[in-house]
Amino acid sequence: MNIDTLRERLAHIESTLAAACAKSGRSRSDVRLVAVTKTTSVEVASLLPSLGVNDLGESRPQELWKKAEAIPSACWHFIGHLQRNKVERTIPLCSLIHSVDTERLAQAISALGRTVPVLLEVNCSREEAKGGFPPETLPEVAERIAALPGLDWQGLMTMAAHSENPEDCRGTFAELRALRDDLRRRTGKPLPHLSMGMSNDYAVAVEEGATLIRLGSILFANLE
Ligand SMILES: *Cc1c(COP(=O)(O)O)cnc(C)c1O
Repeated sequence: MNIDTLRERLAHIESTLAAACAKSGRSRSDVRLVAVTKTTSVEVASLLPSLGVNDLGESRPQELWKKAEAIPSACWHFIGHLQRNKVERTIPLCSLIHSVDTERLAQAISALGRTVPVLLEVNCSREEAKGGFPPETLPEVAERIAALPGLDWQGLMTMAAHSENPEDCRGTFAELRALRDDLRRRTGKPLPHLSMGMSNDYAVAVEEGATLIRLGSILFANLE
């Protein structure tokens, strides 16, 4: 049964999280698990709220529209590249946009005339294939974005370069936290959130201060 497998996988994740929190003097309640449902079905995704996971994430607008319609009670997170022509339909379905990656997207969201919680995506690993603001440009861009009406800017998001050894990601996560601390001083905004850590590296991300971890394959691989 998928639900038993999911329950076991969640228990394993919880014990890893407990250890990472203990090691870094953090509280489990400071870290939210976002289940990234992009590789699984609506049927499997809809089992999660009953297992205590109500934060679900998608990286493609069309998938988000479909799953958010099927599971409207979940708290939906958008974590991928959002084209400006999909802003109007996507934003009202989401409780947090993790992946604002250009100033033009920030402006398009602002123009909706509602208050939208967002994170800015940072390309800490400096891989060309990845989206996000280069860390160097962020202080200047962030000041302009922070001034846009309708954006409730709550922090930063990044993806570490893939590596077999999660320790290799520690520098990236520490850099994101340092960047957030710097932007906090510059802007006076609380910027509570750091969205970082995926299936391979979430324990290290939590040790480095993640408040939102985005887990896909560790939950959904080889189900069905
Ligand atoms: C797919 C995806 C994840 C989940 O990745 P896993 O390695 O499967 O846990 C997290 N964040 C983003 C932005 C993704 O696109």
